Amino acid sequence: MKDSNFLKEHNGRMMWHPMTSPQDSIEQPPKIITGGDGVSIVDIDGHRVVDGVGGLWNVNLGYSCQPVKDAIAAQLDTLPYYSTFRGTSNDAAIELSYELSEFFAPDGLSRAFFTSGGSDSVETSLRLARQYHKLRGDAGRTKFLSLKKGYHGTHIGGASVNGNANFRNAYEPLLPGCYHIPAPYTYRNPFNESDPERLAQLCLQALEDEIAFQGANTIAAMIMEPILGAGGVIPPHPSFAPAVQEICNRNGILLITDEVITAYGRTGAWSGARLWGIQPDMMCTAKAITNGYFPFGAVMLGDRMIEVFEGNPAAKIGHGYTYSGHPVGAAAALACLAETKRLNVVDNAATRGTQLYEGCKALMEKYDIIGDVRGGHGLMTAMEMVSDRAAKKPIDGGTAAKVQEVAYQNGAMVRVSGPNLILSPPLVLTEADADTILTALDAGFAAI
Ligand code: PMP
Repeated sequence: MKDSNFLKEHNGRMMWHPMTSPQDSIEQPPKIITGGDGVSIVDIDGHRVVDGVGGLWNVNLGYSCQPVKDAIAAQLDTLPYYSTFRGTSNDAAIELSYELSEFFAPDGLSRAFFTSGGSDSVETSLRLARQYHKLRGDAGRTKFLSLKKGYHGTHIGGASVNGNANFRNAYEPLLPGCYHIPAPYTYRNPFNESDPERLAQLCLQALEDEIAFQGANTIAAMIMEPILGAGGVIPPHPSFAPAVQEICNRNGILLITDEVITAYGRTGAWSGARLWGIQPDMMCTAKAITNGYFPFGAVMLGDRMIEVFEGNPAAKIGHGYTYSGHPVGAAAALACLAETKRLNVVDNAATRGTQLYEGCKALMEKYDIIGDVRGGHGLMTAMEMVSDRAAKKPIDGGTAAKVQEVAYQNGAMVRVSGPNLILSPPLVLTEADADTILTALDAGFAAI
């Protein structure tokens, strides 16, 4: 490895970073992270902080999860790669599909299609949704519905159902036939409705209206995050998701939950579907499936999909990735699932999630710059920052970056995405770690 002077000199220059402008990377070089253990990360200057971001919502078990590291090393030794395309499989992928079907049985999902990450999982679900309807002789159902402010990854299908202009405009034209429903976002919505239950009703009515306008028999699927994540942690009222499911069922529309963030315990429930008591037709997962140690994902499939695809020789899946069912990823996921269950991280996510959420609300009492605090379901919390609380005027990027930087200097990595300061730490966080994050944030806000 080159020395630290070389790394600092070349930082931000030869590598184009995701979600960043190349010029920004040169002018404000990214932090160079060189180590991680427990729930902390260490940068090239030896500065250690609690990782309030949990990698990127994915390092649920922290950076020292030895069973996952061992499983990866052991699998690399025995079979570092083989394909699962027609005619071959591997032991790790077979065992993982069995374990996942048990894990997601309460969600009504019992088959797995493996991918290399979240965007791949989304793309897989959209494609299988169209194929499902074609196989049933309902080929006119090709459109997709989703929520404004939703995030569904970066492939063209995923970008087309994304509900945030930042991830769409530069890449248009996107897939035709994708329509967006207002999100149940109480802080800002086109109805000026701040009551979560009434807002849920208005959004549901908008969904009904859009289905009637498009024609139910033209719509393949609705995709949504059970709690919107990248859009700024937007939990809907508990009545929302079950009603979406009912509307989809009544109209012959498949329901896909995008659980790339919410699956495997983050919300204080084992899945977002279980949190809201729904049974989707497909569930997209990735991220924490391997604790972030290996790029991997799985789309879980329910009975309606199984009935149409199985027992039908014509139902050939003309879709898949070189790394679908990668044995190293599957071995990592098996170890990760076992640790996730053994540590019962879901309970800790709920307890520590409440601590962080209450702590953020206390910060809001203290600092006018915080316009809204959202969370209350496990370790997903966001603070929306404003420069004028009464007018809800969004904060400028420079001020948000300063809060983040001062928090970092005071012991916690936090994430700024647009006006939102997002917290998604590992689910093995202790009470003291959560306090460290809150104290660092206090210092960040005090500096403004
Ligand atoms: N869906 C959701 C809900 C996500 O949060 C993300 C990533 N943040 C994705 C899809 C895309 O996943 P990936 O970055 O692994 O492709």
